[in-house]
Amino acid sequence: MAILIFAETYKGKLKKDSYELASYAYEIAVEKGTTVTAVCFNASNPDNLSDYGVSKIINCSDDEFDNFDVGIFADCIAKTFFDENSSILVLSSSSNSKYLGGVLAIKLNAGYSANVISKPIYSNGISLIRNSFTNKAFENISILTENLIIGLSKNSFGLKENQTKVEVIDKKFDLPNRVNKITSIEKMSNKVTIADADIVVSGGRGLKGPENWNLIEDLADILGAATACSKPVSDLGWRPHSEHVGQTGKPVSSNLYIAIGISGAIQHLAGVNSSKVKVVINTDPEAPFFKAADYGIVGDAFEVVPTLIEKLKEFKSLNN
Ligand code: FAD
Repeated sequence: MAILIFAETYKGKLKKDSYELASYAYEIAVEKGTTVTAVCFNASNPDNLSDYGVSKIINCSDDEFDNFDVGIFADCIAKTFFDENSSILVLSSSSNSKYLGGVLAIKLNAGYSANVISKPIYSNGISLIRNSFTNKAFENISILTENLIIGLSKNSFGLKENQTKVEVIDKKFDLPNRVNKITSIEKMSNKVTIADADIVVSGGRGLKGPENWNLIEDLADILGAATACSKPVSDLGWRPHSEHVGQTGKPVSSNLYIAIGISGAIQHLAGVNSSKVKVVINTDPEAPFFKAADYGIVGDAFEVVPTLIEKLKEFKSLNN
């Protein structure tokens, strides 16, 4: 009756979200008196999961798993779920895992919810709390099936180390015949994506024009961050629409969100509020964003950001 997690990889390495899933599943497993098993595909470092409470890892290795394929992945996860006699599957709320969640709900005859921010509560069935309306509301839901799939919201639980003795199994599956196959993926940019980023550096209309975006790019580069922007910035064509965050753009739940020259309108905050630490740089001390910020700098972005970049460079060279 182990709790199964699907640990996603990127370029063969486990994603950080996978460690959060493991930490979360471990607490549920302890409460239920069971253990955590992880299933992953072509992971080069699967045993790292044992630092977060996973005691069995099934690493499916095959060239066929190099690119995400919902049919093949769902098939192998479902087989593992039944082989392990599980009743709870935990996955992330990334776009690939959300895609899998729906398919697996049918294969496992399970209730599924994405964007979950609580542990399951067992009273009159199973209840969960999830984010809804781009993080402006919480939804209480009841799952009425015996099997349960939880799509955990990023950064909602955090990482908790629980060193555990682990068994790693390399598994080969008899894969079903494919009707199509992804032969390669050509990324349009090598930059960190907003969804995967730990840190997001975001610019608003206060930056005055696209010619000043080197400030955002340079700060993001030194922090290894993704870049984002407010809606008017992408509407004006200063930045691509893929960078627009907020109620009508992408949601952000990074560990650190740095907002530069962004006023903090409610529609912007709706999409970024679930970030753990928010830093705001704005010339106007009355800007609404300061009320939602953990740290604020009242100052001109054109002075503050270059100083910040310089100090970070100094800090990095001292620590290298
Ligand atoms: P502004 O409101 O113009 O603010 C610029 C800020 O920069 C000001 O606070 C100013 O003090 C500061 N500033 C100026 N100069 C400097 C300087 N030199 N250094 C530092 N700071 C400086 N917006 C979103 O972002 N995302 C959404 O998803 C979204 N969805 C929307 C949906 C609807 C239905 C509607 C009606 C609106 C939506 N908006 C959204 C728009 C939103 O209401 C705001 O208009 C928008 O967020 C403002 O963008 P901004 O902060 O970049 O610009």
